[in-house]
Amino acid sequence: METGFVYSENFNQYNFGEGHPLTPLRIELTYSLMKAYNLLSHPQIQILTPKPAKEEDILRVHQKDYVEKLKELNMLKKPSYMALPEYGLGPGDNPIFPGMYDAALAVSGASITAVDYIMQNEKTRAFNIVGGLHHSMPGMASGFCIFNDIAISIKYLQNKYPNIRIMYLDIDAHHGDGVQWIFYDDPNVLTLSFHQDGRTIFPGTGHVEETGKESGKGYSLNFPMLPGTIDSVYLQAFEKIVPQVMDAYRPDLLLLQSGVDTHFADPITNMGLSTEGQEKIFKIVQENTPKYCNDKLFAVGGGGYNIGVVARTWTMFLAQMLGQTISEPLPKSWVKDLLEKWDDSTEEPPSLLRDRNVWIEEKQLKDPYWQDDLEFHTDKIVDKFENELIPKIKKPIN
Ligand SMILES: [Zn+2]
Repeated sequence: METGFVYSENFNQYNFGEGHPLTPLRIELTYSLMKAYNLLSHPQIQILTPKPAKEEDILRVHQKDYVEKLKELNMLKKPSYMALPEYGLGPGDNPIFPGMYDAALAVSGASITAVDYIMQNEKTRAFNIVGGLHHSMPGMASGFCIFNDIAISIKYLQNKYPNIRIMYLDIDAHHGDGVQWIFYDDPNVLTLSFHQDGRTIFPGTGHVEETGKESGKGYSLNFPMLPGTIDSVYLQAFEKIVPQVMDAYRPDLLLLQSGVDTHFADPITNMGLSTEGQEKIFKIVQENTPKYCNDKLFAVGGGGYNIGVVARTWTMFLAQMLGQTISEPLPKSWVKDLLEKWDDSTEEPPSLLRDRNVWIEEKQLKDPYWQDDLEFHTDKIVDKFENELIPKIKKPIN
């Protein structure tokens, strides 16, 4: 089975500037680690050169006035401190930078290139590590996301294959709100997001009660997790719910947003997963795709602000897609490169791909009931999924 991997040197132009968490260094160091493990020259990999998205592709999701504003800002000569709150742009999450329209077109185009590759070839998967901009809304930027490349690639597919059914699975620490709201009334796109409880983190949504509207009622699913949720609790719920939803819905394609900011050492979230746990999550997705999702998997990147974690986990994901085992320790030259380019004195440099959440293990020893609380919370939601939500999902009529 072949895996398409989208890559372009232009990807580093999606850059909000110095000090912003979504630095292009994430992509650079992920790419160099994949290369160090010889994955990019693997016989089963197909390196895909992306084309930028066309304006008509963008306009299937985004409002004309927002697109026109971005075109205007594209021409700036230097970064601007201007604030345009009506478009979600300005200092903070989404600063204005020259070339931002072109940079956003490149990301969305990469996702379109990947879905075309998957649909045109039998038994293929694809990975676009710069994609996954799940917060962007039709009329505005949000949470580091200018255009919603996920919604754009789904609408592109719907335009080409009118009855296609897509399951969108989001494992980022933040709720996949943009994608959920865009398809909230559409039964042909089932969204399922696992994330840190919206009462404790941006964007504040993703509650179990958000289940869709009109004919899309029942096709938006949310699994909020308590801050600090550990591998064992997360995996137990994920392993139960995800295959059941896939089986109930039987989509033509599975689109996975694989944000890795659920890691315990992520600087902007509060989840408790290890890279080993994240690898297991991906394995569950990967193993169930041939059974329930027509063997078509499109993975995009997403959040992840501890660069060492992003590179390690996404490299393990690509290795799994290629059916390749990669082993410890991390290549020394790559670790050296990481330390030179990303100065993070708060943490020990990584030496292994797979880590353990030692901090949480200590917490567990001090407070044994804490794990019970996490389990109690997820068990309640698992029950709701199994007894109320999953039975309402309908398979395709044919
Ligand atoms: Zn995130």
